[in-house]
Amino acid sequence: MIAIVKSSATEDQLQHFVRWIEGRGFSTNVSRGENETIVGIIGDTTQIDPFLLESMDIIERVQRVSEPFKKANRKFHPDDTIVDCGHGVLVGGGNFQVMAGPCSVEGMNLIQIARRVKDAGATMLRGGAYKPRTSPYAYQGMGERGLDLLLEASTELDMPIVTEVMDVRDVQLFVDKGIDVMQIGARNAQNFNLLKEVGKTDIPVLLKRGLSGTIDELLMAAEYIMSEGNEKVMLCERGIRTFETRTRNTFDVNAIPVLHYLTHLPVIADPSHATGYTRYVRPIAYAATAAGADGLEIEVHNCPSEAWSDGAQALTPDQFDDAMRRIALIREAVTAEVA
Ligand code: PEP
Ligand code: MN
Repeated sequence: MIAIVKSSATEDQLQHFVRWIEGRGFSTNVSRGENETIVGIIGDTTQIDPFLLESMDIIERVQRVSEPFKKANRKFHPDDTIVDCGHGVLVGGGNFQVMAGPCSVEGMNLIQIARRVKDAGATMLRGGAYKPRTSPYAYQGMGERGLDLLLEASTELDMPIVTEVMDVRDVQLFVDKGIDVMQIGARNAQNFNLLKEVGKTDIPVLLKRGLSGTIDELLMAAEYIMSEGNEKVMLCERGIRTFETRTRNTFDVNAIPVLHYLTHLPVIADPSHATGYTRYVRPIAYAATAAGADGLEIEVHNCPSEAWSDGAQALTPDQFDDAMRRIALIREAVTAEVA
């Protein structure tokens, strides 16, 4: 349920109202937007009489929110959320960012790739140190040493890093090391214990859509993180499993405007895992940009044929340069004021 507060209400009156609601065993989510202040009420709101609330001086109107996701719901928070990823990098609400780098951190080539993607205009460095691989015999990642290499690159280039956390037991390590953005991979999109654990931190989270996850399941995964207190969540469309076998996954371009409609959280697109083949990555990056994504996550490798994982979908630095120039042009078209 949401209560829309009259613009004439004072801060004291608002606080009094919030305490009154919380005193009845509900939790609240106050959103002070540009145009209105909204108090989201979370709990079994069937016990609340909306007419009673509407009879209060400061309440303009009350509306039930039928969707099961509350904190992630745009009705609770009409303005876009802007996530501060550190190093001055903001995502969402008109701030568009590209995170790029290798699938896996492999060693000293990381800094080489990082310099190239930064020169091309990427503002965040991605790289996996803990890798969720389908086969237990495939490369599993460098682990903590990989995080250290990412952190060294981050310091040298003054850019935030995005890296996947796979295990509840590793979350504290990521916090202690000062990782800028924790990625939750597609395979962990419904690992509710992991979602709750990252929800207890205040580190931004890049939450990927599950392999066969619906948009509502993605939003409920975000709700798990937010319900623990961490509201710095960015959603990532990375392709879903369909009957199609010509691509690794099927990129769901619909998800971008649908998510913008349903939620205030930023929406990132990952054309690399969505397609699985280098030749398709750029067209899908352009489509996602045109559809209004708040950012892109793209795999780039200095020598894709030698990559330790996902070489088949990596862009070379030169291909990434070209992509970034076109992405900038598409962003101009998407954001232009047209008379
Ligand atoms: C990745 O980003 O390298 C990755 C494993 O992504 P996903 O979880 O989307 O497959
Ligand atoms: Mn990958």
